Amino acid sequence: MSRKRVLITGGAGFLGSHLCERFLAEEYEVFCMDNLITGDLQNVDHLMGDQHFHFLNQDVTEYIHVPGKLDAVLHFASPASPIDYLLLPIQTLKVGSLGTHKALGLAHAKGARFLLASTSECYGDPLVHPQTEDYWGNVNPVGPRGVYDEAKRFAEAMTMGYHRFHGVQSRIIRIFNTYGPRMRMNDGRALPAFMSQALRGEPITVFGDGSQTRSFCYVDDLVEGIWRLLNSDETLPTNIGNPSEMTILQFAEKVVELTGTKSTISFKELPEDDPKVRQPDITKAKRILGWEPKVGLDEGLERTFAYFRNKIEEEQKASAGA
Ligand code: UDP
Repeated sequence: MSRKRVLITGGAGFLGSHLCERFLAEEYEVFCMDNLITGDLQNVDHLMGDQHFHFLNQDVTEYIHVPGKLDAVLHFASPASPIDYLLLPIQTLKVGSLGTHKALGLAHAKGARFLLASTSECYGDPLVHPQTEDYWGNVNPVGPRGVYDEAKRFAEAMTMGYHRFHGVQSRIIRIFNTYGPRMRMNDGRALPAFMSQALRGEPITVFGDGSQTRSFCYVDDLVEGIWRLLNSDETLPTNIGNPSEMTILQFAEKVVELTGTKSTISFKELPEDDPKVRQPDITKAKRILGWEPKVGLDEGLERTFAYFRNKIEEEQKASAGA
């Protein structure tokens, strides 16, 4: 029997690379598409020798060609950190809008199921807490995060348009803060920043007074949620995230404790429009997918720390050898 075939855009990114692994394990033929702006070939290097893995170096905002049938298209391409949005605002807008259009067009042409990686950023700086899927959000369209938030909101609208008008079998996941191995070290997000600062003995930079909250989900839990959502028949957005909420200061303290670093905490200016609270309400995911996160913060952070320690050791060896 021939294998099912999936296209994963942004497949060489943090989440994309974990999805490539999962779909290979599920015996799919995997087409990983990335233009490597924020993705990294190192994330999929270990898959290159697999005859069922195919890397396509392509910008998803251009016309996409994938030969043969496709059973699923997962659209994960996008810059995904506040620093990326500042450095790559136009690319962020384009991949969420034009890229989503191309990916949906391909799914439609192939009769494939489509899954959009959307985001808790759709809720903006939320006035409803925890966030349920029926909350429409509090987004500043012209702030620094607007390029990401509005592109993803447009992407959701476009996905529903293709579903309603063309009958595309679509799924929308709203992803909350997720962490794990293969996060980009210098993308400015809290976890890679804190881990690399701890490992280098540099001050841990907490923005504002650290009272803003986030809820961190380990990548394996997220991937399981994506797998279940794709295989469900739910077309409206579904939150996937870990509801265990903490302040960013508590999170920084946790990293200090776990890594045993001598780094101290230093406070920096809070970025514009930084959401004050964020916590997913996952009642829907529990009900329709039987999904909830399994990996606790200590365990997840230890696995992630091992990855960052390795990365920094490699970097130090390379610069010593240079
Ligand atoms: N943050 C911080 N120090 C850093 C990077 C981020 O205190 O070096 C804060 C940031 O202001 C935000 C939280 O950590 O309140 C999570 O930031 P991240 O960029 O990881 O994701 P966000 O949820 O804001 O998209």
